[in-house]
Amino acid sequence: MQSSPPTQTPTHVPTTTVVTNLTTLFPTQTHPPGSAAYIATTTTYYDASSISAPALVFHPHTSHDVAAALKLLTASNTKFAVKGGGHMPGAFSSAGEGGVLMAMERMEVVEWEDQMDGVVLRVGPGNRWGRVYAKAAERGRVVVGGRRPEVGVVGLVIGGGVAFVAGEYGWACDNVAGFEVVLADSTIVYATATNDHKDLYRALRGGSANFGIVTRIDLITHPLPNGGWGALNFHDFSSAPELRGAYIAAFIEYILHGASADPKSGAVTVLLCSPMAGMNAGYSNLWRSSPEPTSSLSSSSTTTPAVFKALNTIPGSSKHGNITLSEFIESLGAPSPPSPIPMQNAFRTSTFLADAALIKEFVRVHDEEYAAIVNVVGLTTALTFQPITPRHVRAAENGIGRNVLGLEDAAEKGTLVVTEQSVSWMHAEDRERVQAVQKRIQERMEVWAVERRLHVGWRYLNDADMDQNDAVWEGIGEDNGRFLRAVRERYDKEGVLRRLWVGGFKL
Ligand SMILES: Cc1cc2nc3c(=O)[nH]c(=O)nc-3n(C[C@H](O)[C@H](O)[C@H](O)COP(=O)(O)OP(=O)(O)OC[C@H]3O[C@@H](n4cnc5c(N)ncnc54)[C@H](O)[C@@H]3O)c2cc1C
Repeated sequence: MQSSPPTQTPTHVPTTTVVTNLTTLFPTQTHPPGSAAYIATTTTYYDASSISAPALVFHPHTSHDVAAALKLLTASNTKFAVKGGGHMPGAFSSAGEGGVLMAMERMEVVEWEDQMDGVVLRVGPGNRWGRVYAKAAERGRVVVGGRRPEVGVVGLVIGGGVAFVAGEYGWACDNVAGFEVVLADSTIVYATATNDHKDLYRALRGGSANFGIVTRIDLITHPLPNGGWGALNFHDFSSAPELRGAYIAAFIEYILHGASADPKSGAVTVLLCSPMAGMNAGYSNLWRSSPEPTSSLSSSSTTTPAVFKALNTIPGSSKHGNITLSEFIESLGAPSPPSPIPMQNAFRTSTFLADAALIKEFVRVHDEEYAAIVNVVGLTTALTFQPITPRHVRAAENGIGRNVLGLEDAAEKGTLVVTEQSVSWMHAEDRERVQAVQKRIQERMEVWAVERRLHVGWRYLNDADMDQNDAVWEGIGEDNGRFLRAVRERYDKEGVLRRLWVGGFKL
């Protein structure tokens, strides 16, 4: 997957000149270091290592603002970054040290596109999922989006996007009617599955931040007037360790059989451990779309869907009941306002054929490896096993065509499981130790899985560590890689974006 280096490097113009020009053009939308807006934008990230010190923060209001700024940045060869919801962990995700940080937070329109049968939402790139679900709920509909309200819309969609309703409707990126994009040469195009930019449309369904700056996503919504059944469960294993085995057995059962047998279901099942806080727990967020009328989420019992009977009977605290998906997502939100000092965070991922022995071995290796670094201050590990069913993978095929994630062949063999090691801790100096452990777990498990023919060489971009960049692109397969490079060649011949756009997973 090597690609040729970009050509034609323009003469570098001092950052001060670019800052002056941008500030002159957009006096109320540019924010220098020290200003309140600068501080608010540059400190609100999920991962503390994403925080950096750009020379200027720019808040575009329209796609024309984005185009005008990009023209200045490319003409002066100035590095820039694009921040959506700021949830991709990693030092290079969205802030341009010394460059310009284009933060999309003021582009937050969410409105119905009534020309498309009233089922499409026009969504600005400054939005987070909570607002979008709420808007969809106004018409008794749902979007296929993130499972936490505070996560950014664009970053999630262009990397794929796993939703509670993915079993029925596929990836978030499979539920897009069109993308408005500012290209490297500052032209603004609208890409759909069938128009002249259908190659760009497909590239953005998994190809992430490599082709242009997305200034609007039109999301296809689906009817769900009566919502469904949701549960927030928490199980404390510290005083009852035997429960942990029962919980693991229950989520294995769901991953292996429940998820594909009941496409209306979706679940996040997590093993949580915080050694210094003495926490050894599990939590699950369970969802099933249903036609029944809604009441509210409470600890009182309503009928548990058959698919979640085992998971929902593990002792612990539980809130469950009938609810709209919008309300359910909102109930999963981070505390508001968010903590002023984010923790250090890192993700790492790998994918396997779903298998009970593999999941148990993963948990064992995970426990063993983290036991060596329990003295990392604030260490909290969250290990998640995400089922990806064959129906999830193929959901888009008969409508808008394939995305570029490249999972079709693997899904022929059955349900896949994406493992996500999500870890947080306090101090930057512990990053190397934590990430070394994450990497060792992944490598040990991949060797184990290769020997048993359970390994799938695919890494979910949105759950990956930056050092998995090459593996992410290798995992989508040669044809998809070739296609993406051809699209990049068409829309950014001179490699301008590749050279100047800092952050994210780069092809
Ligand atoms: C708490 C939490 C919950 C999560 N839940 C889910 C989940 O349920 N399902 C799931 O699939 N993933 C989930 N994720 C992963 C999530 O999809 C990624 O972290 C995603 O990158 C977040 O997007 P963002 O816009 O918030 O991030 P950002 O860091 O702002 O952006 C991510 C990348 O997209 C680029 N980008 C942002 N905006 C634009 C734009 N307008 N045009 C072009 N490029 C842009 C950025 O430059 C960067 O490279 C979760 C992550 C966290 C931390």
